[in-house]
Amino acid sequence: MGGHYKNFKTVVYIPAQVAAQFTPESLDKDYAFLEKYIGLDKVYLETHRGNCDVEEAQLMMAKSFLESKGVEVSGGITTTIGDFEGAEGGKRRIFDTFCYTDPAMRNRMKEISEYTAKFFDEIILDDFYFTNCTCERCIREKGDTDWVTFRRELMKDVSANLIVGPAKAVNPKVKMVIKYPNWRESYHFAGYIPEVQDEIFDATYIGTETRSPAYTDQHLPEYLSYSLARFMQNAWPGRCGGGWFDPYQCWSTERYLEQAYLTAFAQAHELMHFQWSDLVGNRFVCAMGMQLARIDDMMDGIGAAGGVPVYIPHASSGENHLEMRLGMLGIPIEPVSVFPADAPKVLLTESALADPDIIDKLRDYVYNGGDAVITTGFMREAQEWLFDAGLTQAHLTGRRYAVTRFHITGDEAGYIEHRKPILFPELVHGNNDGWSLLNGGSGDLHASLFLRNTYGKGRMYIWAVPDNDADIYRMPKSTLDVLRRTLSDDLYATGTDFSMFTYENGMILYRYAKADLHTDRVRIHTSRPVKALKCVDNGWEFPANKITVREDFEEREEYVADVVLEPGIFGKYIWV
Ligand SMILES: [Zn+2]
Repeated sequence: MGGHYKNFKTVVYIPAQVAAQFTPESLDKDYAFLEKYIGLDKVYLETHRGNCDVEEAQLMMAKSFLESKGVEVSGGITTTIGDFEGAEGGKRRIFDTFCYTDPAMRNRMKEISEYTAKFFDEIILDDFYFTNCTCERCIREKGDTDWVTFRRELMKDVSANLIVGPAKAVNPKVKMVIKYPNWRESYHFAGYIPEVQDEIFDATYIGTETRSPAYTDQHLPEYLSYSLARFMQNAWPGRCGGGWFDPYQCWSTERYLEQAYLTAFAQAHELMHFQWSDLVGNRFVCAMGMQLARIDDMMDGIGAAGGVPVYIPHASSGENHLEMRLGMLGIPIEPVSVFPADAPKVLLTESALADPDIIDKLRDYVYNGGDAVITTGFMREAQEWLFDAGLTQAHLTGRRYAVTRFHITGDEAGYIEHRKPILFPELVHGNNDGWSLLNGGSGDLHASLFLRNTYGKGRMYIWAVPDNDADIYRMPKSTLDVLRRTLSDDLYATGTDFSMFTYENGMILYRYAKADLHTDRVRIHTSRPVKALKCVDNGWEFPANKITVREDFEEREEYVADVVLEPGIFGKYIWV
């Protein structure tokens, strides 16, 4: 790749308001800071945001200075409009985005695109390129259709005819990049249509900022910084430019850095640091260069990332972020927007129901030998269809019950009692029609939390998800192994609040740096005969012991190695 690192470029975004304020002196000083602590390979220099447009002379001053330092300079646009003369009245739009049915605003959008294309061969749109306008004219033009359909058509037109078309008319070489936000589950509600825009734009980019998951308004699991980056790389193969994170509401340096780690583990080509003036002088940034250099060494020769396929069709929502919680229980997740018919395993959450053919695909998949795990959220909407397809006769009663006892059914000693209650949906099955691998109960009641059905050559499992899906972290570690073994019988890891990222040539283990976390032991299991798990960074070897696991009336041999993980520390491991 060139630049400061071998496996990625370090990039900083410069918003229009910041670019407009630069003086040659301030630019020189800021650059020295960023170069020292991050190592600056590239910037995106913005021409427009809100009320601010940057004049040509100012853009050229910044561009030539940065290029003289060997920094690559691309352009950027934020599609907010600020106070706009001629806009119809009405309530303020959330985030001041354009009304794309307003002829004057449409014209302004086209001008901004043309202006920017004069100076840059690559232009990225910041993730305000959504439409949420509900003005009287938009309601009128929407007519009898719904907002999703209306906005899909509207943004297809805007993308082709007001942004990409006009830019390419001015500069045929220009590469147009659409950055998608960190809220994938809501794209379709606000006119983000990656499945349509992939034919209009040259490349994409993805928001990986997760900030403080419990406390910030989006409540995004930390793992999103990895899995959403993987999702976009899978959705636009070879055309996802990078991942984009920021320091806002991170509150600790570790939390800030963690976003960069996970974006890099996802093999994003560019690590976009937003934004220039909030990074200069920020203590969060001071460890970045050192940590990125370590990750860069670690990623060398590690091969392609992979994991358990989770089918997340475009324009879908439901059980949002659930798969990311599994990612933080050591299950490596590989989200894909196309049904992975050839994969040996697949996980389907409620989001998969956005595919109108999902039941047929699922039936064929299992019939032909696949192992599918569906959640109770998926089942809730689809149980009649599943019954009609013959995949299961189990059903959800609609009742919920508080589980205080767990029972791993294949293990005669597999009872775990007196846990704090967790609410689960009640899943009822015909005895011996399906087989429960994990039960949950309280008093004399119990029901299945993980049910296996067979069909054709394959198996379909129903996994009961707690009402509050964050309660998964409170389930006993060994109960989750039942799910882990089903999703990956070859390699799995027991523990909580950590991730195992798997690649062709090794794995990375990382324990999250949450405030209340301490060191913890995780157990890595493989079905392959191995001697030890070796930490490549320090050469330590953790001996692998052969154990017998009882499950489902059978015994299986596994090799397991125990590793102690410290919060905020990552390492690369290989079997030897
Ligand atoms: Zn409008």
